[in-house]
Formats: sequence, structure tokens, C-alpha cells
Amino acid sequence: MAGKHTAYDETIVALATAPGIGAIAVIRLSGPQAISICNTIFPAKDLERQASHTLHVGNIVSGGRIIDEVVVSLFKGPRSYTGEDVVELSCHGSPYIQQQLIDACIQAGARLAKPGEYTMRAFLNGKLDLAQAESVADLIASHSAASHQTALQQMRGGFSRELQALREQLIRFSAMIELELDFSQEDVEFADRSQLYALIKTAMEVVQHLADSFRMGNVIKHGVNTAIVGKPNAGKSTLLNTLLNENRAIVSDIAGTTRDTIEEVLNIQGILFRLIDTAGIRDSVDTIESIGVQKTMEKIKEAGVVIYLFDVNELTAADLQKQVQAFEQEQVNYLLVGNKTDLLGIAAAQEKFRDIPGILFISARNHEHINTLKEQLVQKVMSGDINTEATIVTNARHHAALQAVMQSLQDVQAGMDNGLPGDLLALDIRRCLHYLGEITGEITNEDQLDFIFSKFCIGK
Ligand code: GDP
Repeated sequence: MAGKHTAYDETIVALATAPGIGAIAVIRLSGPQAISICNTIFPAKDLERQASHTLHVGNIVSGGRIIDEVVVSLFKGPRSYTGEDVVELSCHGSPYIQQQLIDACIQAGARLAKPGEYTMRAFLNGKLDLAQAESVADLIASHSAASHQTALQQMRGGFSRELQALREQLIRFSAMIELELDFSQEDVEFADRSQLYALIKTAMEVVQHLADSFRMGNVIKHGVNTAIVGKPNAGKSTLLNTLLNENRAIVSDIAGTTRDTIEEVLNIQGILFRLIDTAGIRDSVDTIESIGVQKTMEKIKEAGVVIYLFDVNELTAADLQKQVQAFEQEQVNYLLVGNKTDLLGIAAAQEKFRDIPGILFISARNHEHINTLKEQLVQKVMSGDINTEATIVTNARHHAALQAVMQSLQDVQAGMDNGLPGDLLALDIRRCLHYLGEITGEITNEDQLDFIFSKFCIGK
């Protein structure tokens, strides 16, 4: 981007690969001296004279000592990740070599990169917009297929494209209003009011849709707290084991799994279901009466979805009905699952509970209808198909900005209802454009940038 092309004269260096031992590690340099710094420690060739996007093998020599044989990848700005000159040194992956190489670069004039500084430079050089830059962090942290897809889609600009279309609509809207202002003496109405209403209505729909997707985005990014509750012997442990056998997620791979209450995590269709410890609930659910006890319900409500498991042979339809009422009253997102149908038979179970809709009948022990249960779980939290190609908002900052956009759109609409003069309408529209710009980074301030990029790790 003209004028913006690197505000930085310092060259930064950091380990780009994960710390620790690996077959290969990559040290990345970015900045105006990236190539000359590398030249001083890479005697094999003059890198200044090599073409961009080429690889070179040779020794790194520092203080008269060979540190390692490396492959140098050369990316001349602006055709690089950051938009600056970038050199990547692929070395042998010992932590000792990594450290020695970084030290050598620092001695030759580079400085250690700050968290997220590569991506920040990419943003400042117009390589990515802010929403895309933030999704780089999400991509690196993604732990399931669904969150990976969402972050990738955002990084490719899906979110930004939708906002861009919205921005253009609004600019068109304000142009119409301003045209009207110019001719106000002559009492012409260029801006057909019904057309303007339609435009605002569409914009509101798009924003609402994006804001709504945040809930889904959260599910994809962080998983959903899930509780299996029911009386003793309903088969809860059996069901848990059946589900875990096929779908256990590797907990150590999941970011932010520090809550002690989390026992196990299931990965179903790329969505993480975190089974929260419901020990407290399990006991108190024993008696239908106690379900009304507020403390118990508070715990249940922590769950994004509750599986209420009951033994179809033991529970009466009347008791189930009471349970359903309690859930409804407390607005719990629940799934009714009748277990041990192998004993009673599905037809008889259906007959017994015919007045209560939406029960799924399974046999946890015999693995019957477990796949249907999984599908229903996903539907419960995703409200419809998971389409990871669609734009899904996963970022709290974006969500807040979208809500501000929504508010200003509502103001515009109210303004039209009240016959507000065009210049005041135009103000509200400008406010709206401002918030949209905050998401993609057309409008930023330094504090905001520092905050966003400080959440990255060093080397990204
Ligand atoms: P919890 O107390 O709810 O955790 O129940 P458990 O999982 O410990 O199960 C209680 C008993 O019911 C155990 O003997 C299980 O083998 C049995 N059980 C669980 N699921 C089924 C099922 O689908 N069919 C039958 N026949 N027995 C089951």
C-alpha cells in the first residue's frame, strides 16, 4: 500500500516454528536489513544478488565458528508475508542451534521480534486487513477441523468481503441522501424513501446474521459445555464411555482447557463437547423435586447443552413430564434420551412416552442409535447445518463492533421514521461506517493494535 510501506526501520528476528526439539526449525528475519544481516553470517553467497523466492544452502558462521548448515529462503519485499524483505533460515531443530542462530542475527544487527510483530507488519503494509490478521492467531490456535476451517475462511477474507459489500451499500445510501441535500432548494426527491428503507433493512439483516453467527463461532472456537444428567443407574457412565470410545478429543491439544471441572472432551463433527463435571447435579437430580433447587439449576445452566438420560423401564411418563417442565421453565437447552430400550423394545418405549415429543431412544450398552444422538447434539448447538464455508464471527471485538453497527443502523431507521433531515441521517450512517472500519482496520489506533497483536506469540 503506497505511503504505508513499512513504517519500521528495524529488522526483527524470531523462531517461527514451535520451540523445542524438531527435525527442522525455522528462524525468520524481516525488515530492511534482513538480507544484509543474513549476508554477514552466510558466507557461501552474496544474497543481495540472488533472485527473490529462491533457496540457498550453506553454513552459518558467527564469531569464526560454524553454527549449522542451513537452507536460506529469500523473499524480497513486497512479495513476502510481511511485505518487507524476509529471510527464513531452516536449520537443524535443536534448541541450542536455534538459540545460537538467533544470537548471531542479533549480533549482526537484528532485534528480537515482539509478539505478533510479523503479522502486525503484514497488516501495516496492507498485506492483510485486521480481521484477517486476527484470524491468523485463530488459525494457529485452532484445535478442531471446524475451528480450523472457520479461521482459514476468515483469513482468506470471507468476513472482510461481506463487510465490504455492506460498506458499499451504505456509501451508496449516503450518496443518495447527499444528492438530495444538494437539490433541497428545488424540492426533488432523488432518494426514493422505500428504496432507502429496503437498503437499511438488508444491511440490518446482514449485520444481524453476522452477529448471530458469533454464538456459533464461539461454539466452534471454544467448544460447548455439555452435561449428562439423570438418576443413578440411568446409564450415564455407560453412555459416556460409549461416546468416548469413538470421539475422545486429545485434551492437551485444546487451548484454554484449564477449568478443573472439565472431565472429558468429545470431538463430534469437528465440534468440541466439553463434558462438565456434573457430580453435584447427578445426585440432586435423583429426586424430581430437587431439580427446582436453584443451586442445582445454576450448574445445569452452565451447560450449553444437557443430555437428560433416563431408564425407559424405570421412569414413569408423569415423572418425565415434570422433568421437562422444570427444564422448560429454566430455559435449559436439553435433549431427552431414553436408555435401555434393548430391554423394553423401542415400540413399547415410544408407546409409554407417547405424550412427550422429541425423545431419542437408545441403548447405551449396545451402542444403538448413538450416531443419531451425536447428530442431534450437533444440531442442538449449531442450529442447523454446520457450514464452515459460511462466514462465522468468532472474535469478541468484531462482535462488539457489529453490535455498534446494528445500533447505528437502527438509529438511521428511526431517523427516517421521524423524518429526520438528511444531514443528520448522514451522520448516523457515517458512525455506522466508522464501526465497520474498526473491524477491518480502516480505523484503528495504536493502543488497539498493540492489544490485538500482543495476544499472538513471538514469531508469528
Ligand atoms: P449411571 O449411574 O447413570 O452412571 O449408570 P451406569 O452407566 O453405571 O449403568 C447402570 C447399569 O445399567 C449398569 O449395570 C449398566 O451396565 C446398565 N446399562 C447401561 N446402559 C444400558 C443399556 O443400554 N441397556 C441395558 N440393558 N443396561 C444398561
